[in-house]
Amino acid sequence: MAAEAAEEARQLRSCEDCGLPEAAGLCPACASRRRVDGLVRDADAVYAAYRRRHNRRTKEAAEQAADAAGLRTAEALLGRLLDQLDAARRRASAA
Ligand SMILES: [Zn+2]
Repeated sequence: MAAEAAEEARQLRSCEDCGLPEAAGLCPACASRRRVDGLVRDADAVYAAYRRRHNRRTKEAAEQAADAAGLRTAEALLGRLLDQLDAARRRASAA
């Protein structure tokens, strides 16, 4: 009997969201809207996670490109310095 009374009381509760009476706490329309809201939140979370990973990978690729460019610049500079050193040695040995 207590269970029946509790169930009856539950059925009589109005909708938490729109106040529709005797909706067992949540009417079908609001239950459906909550499911859609939940799906939208899930989709937002998935999209945000995708954006974070994409941004991290883009940043890593940019850093690698900058590292490679910096390395090429350093190699070119070293090459010029070695050429100048060779030239200076040749001048020194010719003198
Ligand atoms: Zn409702």
